[in-house]
Amino acid sequence: MKKIPKSDPKALTEDEIEYYYSLLQEEVTEYNCGSLCAPSNGGIPVCCQADNALPALYKSEYEMLSKRTDLWKAYIPMTREEKKDFAEYDHRKITFCECKGVAHCERENRSISCRTFPLEPYLDTRGVLVGLVFMHEFIKKCPLTALSQDIRQEFIDNHFLFWEKLLFRVESEYEVYTDSSKAYRRRRKRTGVDFPILYPSHLKGKEYLEKYV
Ligand code: SF4
Ligand code: SF4
Repeated sequence: MKKIPKSDPKALTEDEIEYYYSLLQEEVTEYNCGSLCAPSNGGIPVCCQADNALPALYKSEYEMLSKRTDLWKAYIPMTREEKKDFAEYDHRKITFCECKGVAHCERENRSISCRTFPLEPYLDTRGVLVGLVFMHEFIKKCPLTALSQDIRQEFIDNHFLFWEKLLFRVESEYEVYTDSSKAYRRRRKRTGVDFPILYPSHLKGKEYLEKYV
């Protein structure tokens, strides 16, 4: 008899995804930051083009969204390079997707990737989450990454809460961002170029953090 694959008991549930969405409602800026990049990109925000940023949806996130909208479809890698890149990810846990395009965007059905862009969590030398940083790979593509002063504090505070919960919940994400945070520090040491850390309200101005970040 054929074995039925067991579902992963540690996988995120749809309820959890719904809860995370409730923490990721804040607007990133007081203005539409698409006005910074879209005019020079054929009228399309850079982060809403699959060529630039392909959203990775958690399995349960994709299942949940598929029940309530036709906004998303799984992305099939076409080129040999894309297939090679895809092979590096665990496709039992995530599905790379593309949406129907910015003209059809549904705010309540945006993915976690859409909502968190262009920031990711930053863990200090102790492995403690202390703030958010701009994703290094988008520094040249996303003009907002040069405007840290424009990021709303409410956005930072709520996203910090989200990342705190996710990193505690999903061990592999904790590992991914521990490694990426180390890479930020290595790059800073090598180039001498610092990177901004966006602190949540409760960690702003804390001098004791300086020796860890
Ligand atoms: S986050 Fe960056 S890439 Fe996306 S719309 Fe705003 S400025 Fe453009
Ligand atoms: S769902 Fe909306 S925010 Fe997300 S990539 Fe598509 S157009 Fe952009």
